[in-house]
Amino acid sequence: MAERSHSYRTKAVILRRRNFGDADRILTVFTPRFGKRMLIAKGSRKTTSRKAGHLEPFNHVNMLVAQARTWDIITESVTIEGFLELRGDLDAISRAAYICELVDAFTAEDDEYEVVWQLLLFCLRELDAGSTNEADLLVRWFELQLLRHMGFQPELFACLGCGGDLLPVENFMHLNAGGVFCPECGRNMQGGELISARILKILRHLFRTHWDGLRGLRIRPSTARAVEGVLQRYLVTILERRLKSTDFIHRLRQTVADRESVVKPEESADAGSQSHGPRVSGNSSRRAD
Ligand SMILES: [Zn+2]
Repeated sequence: MAERSHSYRTKAVILRRRNFGDADRILTVFTPRFGKRMLIAKGSRKTTSRKAGHLEPFNHVNMLVAQARTWDIITESVTIEGFLELRGDLDAISRAAYICELVDAFTAEDDEYEVVWQLLLFCLRELDAGSTNEADLLVRWFELQLLRHMGFQPELFACLGCGGDLLPVENFMHLNAGGVFCPECGRNMQGGELISARILKILRHLFRTHWDGLRGLRIRPSTARAVEGVLQRYLVTILERRLKSTDFIHRLRQTVADRESVVKPEESADAGSQSHGPRVSGNSSRRAD
């Protein structure tokens, strides 16, 4: 098909899709230059469709899109990366779906997101490469890096009250205020939660270190669950404020509630407990805690 002036070519990752009418699909895609887009793939549910196989969730594709009044129309689509290893692993699929939902929740249409685009592709490739032991930590790293690039990073280094350096003691995390307060400032505030020096250290490490510097890092299961918990409560707080993706917030809040109902105190939880939380191996040469 000849490229017309009212068509554009773009790379995209399929964030999600839903059926539309008898044979079509509406896709939410993420692009480096146009941000998030809702596009229609006409006839893509017909078994004869040549586009069908290229428009699976998480696929990294090159597409030609024709502008239209409602949804722009995908007229060509070719897979660049299909992440086939990832697709054979249910845990990896759920992690990929989760990071795609986060991108969907935080980004808007028609903004440029080159850094987030690179971050998303990087994490999909890592999940595809299949280092299961590190996959939960990778998702935590993705959460913090996404928050950082979208301008919602929690303050983890200086007290939000007095501005002093946070010391390796028990401080206070204040989700609504967007970060951590020192013991003196946080003690009398409503709505804060204690954050241990160990958890804060790991959050800082995840925040300022590239993933290549985190490979092989091992964290106790109880610590990993605590890190996951504080990050997910923070994400819920930020997303609720933005009044977006209420279904996603609801499910995220449910996972927070489910986990908190099974989390035990740190000491007992370390003794080989299994939960639906992160399964990060504890036997390792390197520890962050
Ligand atoms: Zn302070």
